[in-house]
Amino acid sequence: MLTALSLACESTPDLAATMRLQIPALAWHMTGAGVWQRTFHLHGQGIRVRVEADRGGLQFSFRTGTDEELLRDLLIATFRNGEQVGAMALTGHPALRALRRHHQGMILLAGSPFETLVLAVLAQARPAAAVRKVFPRLAAECGGLTPRRLSELPLPRLAQLVRPLGEVKASRLHATAAILTRRGATAFDRPIGGSDSHALNYLLPSLPGVGTHTAAIVMAIVNDVPDTVPIDQHLMRVAYRLGLTDHDGGLTKPGSRRVAADLLAYGPDVARAHPLIQHVAYDTCTASTPDCRRCFLAESCRYAARTRVMPGPVRV
Ligand code: SF4
Repeated sequence: MLTALSLACESTPDLAATMRLQIPALAWHMTGAGVWQRTFHLHGQGIRVRVEADRGGLQFSFRTGTDEELLRDLLIATFRNGEQVGAMALTGHPALRALRRHHQGMILLAGSPFETLVLAVLAQARPAAAVRKVFPRLAAECGGLTPRRLSELPLPRLAQLVRPLGEVKASRLHATAAILTRRGATAFDRPIGGSDSHALNYLLPSLPGVGTHTAAIVMAIVNDVPDTVPIDQHLMRVAYRLGLTDHDGGLTKPGSRRVAADLLAYGPDVARAHPLIQHVAYDTCTASTPDCRRCFLAESCRYAARTRVMPGPVRV
């Protein structure tokens, strides 16, 4: 039986941006104009879910039996009950207000700790399109990603699946899955979901292939009220140019901590919104030549004001 689920949103959802800018979205792929799909594995059974947007919110469709209620809860949690960037507390700086306005229809996705960790590792230095090809095959092979199922997958098979993203990731993920299986699911999920600083500083970075940046990404996605911001040189550059921080001293540990603290002073929603700032870094705010004339943040940007660059007609 085909089941439909509607999730109401305050304003028309921007599903394209929702799926373009975030790590949990890498589990989804586009199957037609504006239609996205992924498979959830509940109790080992794969259930394909489609989602599309209309003016009132998100429309999901799937076939399921006894697990229908569980899947509904999972979808609502993944799409954070339809909460959009437009409703977030991004108010303490003109650039944050401009980000909120520009991305008002976007929904910031949530994810389970282990799946988010696997996606974050797969996405390290690799394009989204490549991750979107590898992830569904990996999840299907495991019958759903859990540390135990991933650790039970023979390493040569895992290496074969992950090869397009770099073979070294297979041995790292395999070792991580084995460590977490030995420790038990709760010993991982609880501290990660509980915004525990020990998890951020020790537990996650102690896992093979997980550095401080990947650890911070996982914590910022999994927690509703994150207390960390993933800082890399791109986010640091944009935050400095916008005037969200005065630190431009390079990507050292103390420097990253300082920028994260400056951003968190605007509230935890800035941490959740970090993909929006990150996207500016790749789009207009490149290291060598920021394209301020094309940037929607120009009117609220310290760098653009200093260089007297304001938005103008874009020539194509
Ligand atoms: S206005 Fe220019 S400097 Fe400011 S964020 Fe945009 S591209 Fe970067």
